[in-house]
Amino acid sequence: MRFDILSIFPGALRGLLSVGILGQAQAAGLIDVRLHDLRAFTDDPHRIVDDRPYGGGAGMLMKVEPFVRGIETIKADSGSNVRTILLSPQGRLFRQSDAADWARLDGLILLCGRYEGVDERVIGFVDEEISIGDYVLAGGEAAAAVVVEATARMTPGVVGKFDSIESDSFYEKPRLGAPQYTRPPEFRGLRVPEVLLSGDHAKIEAFREAEAWKKTTRNRPELLGLSLEETTEDG
Ligand code: SAM
Repeated sequence: MRFDILSIFPGALRGLLSVGILGQAQAAGLIDVRLHDLRAFTDDPHRIVDDRPYGGGAGMLMKVEPFVRGIETIKADSGSNVRTILLSPQGRLFRQSDAADWARLDGLILLCGRYEGVDERVIGFVDEEISIGDYVLAGGEAAAAVVVEATARMTPGVVGKFDSIESDSFYEKPRLGAPQYTRPPEFRGLRVPEVLLSGDHAKIEAFREAEAWKKTTRNRPELLGLSLEETTEDG
């Protein structure tokens, strides 16, 4: 699968996206991450990507033309099954199920805004506006990295043992993963639950299942359609 990222700071993503399983996946040819300098798609000698907003207001907005030229150039050279995403705090919230769906595509084109955001007309040239959460970042690069990492993990072969994905939070159901422990068996009086040391796989499985639901109820009651009051009432 191929990821094309359009940004005025493409270098900012290079380190993050080349380490760990993403680095290994690129070396193995499972994913291809291409970072594009948005300024390469300007047509003026100063390579300007921003301008003042019509109607006034603070700050600068990113212009529509460099993004559209960038999308068209990348599409001319990529597969047909490609999705174009504008990273934006005003978009639909990104979910694990998107990562699983998008991992079946030939490619994702990710557009990173900066400053006060992008000219609204860019939306006419993308498939979707996507937000990674209800907060405002300085730029779309961190959000693009989130989407690439989550989607690459779901690309076949990227994570060696697929059962480690199946026990992850949010895998095919709105539920957190079970709490996990490693050595030592006791640290400052905190003991690893005995059942995990028992070697009884059926009991371990049942324990993990129950703990995963408990943790979801405690930390993310809204995933189960519960309010915080309902969870504290029930203990
Ligand atoms: N003025 C915009 C607003 O109020 O919605 C915020 C612009 S933000 C400072 C600049 C850029 O950061 C955005 O164009 C977007 O690409 C990126 N960004 C900020 N927060 C984001 C989020 N939660 N999810 C995805 N991208 C985000």
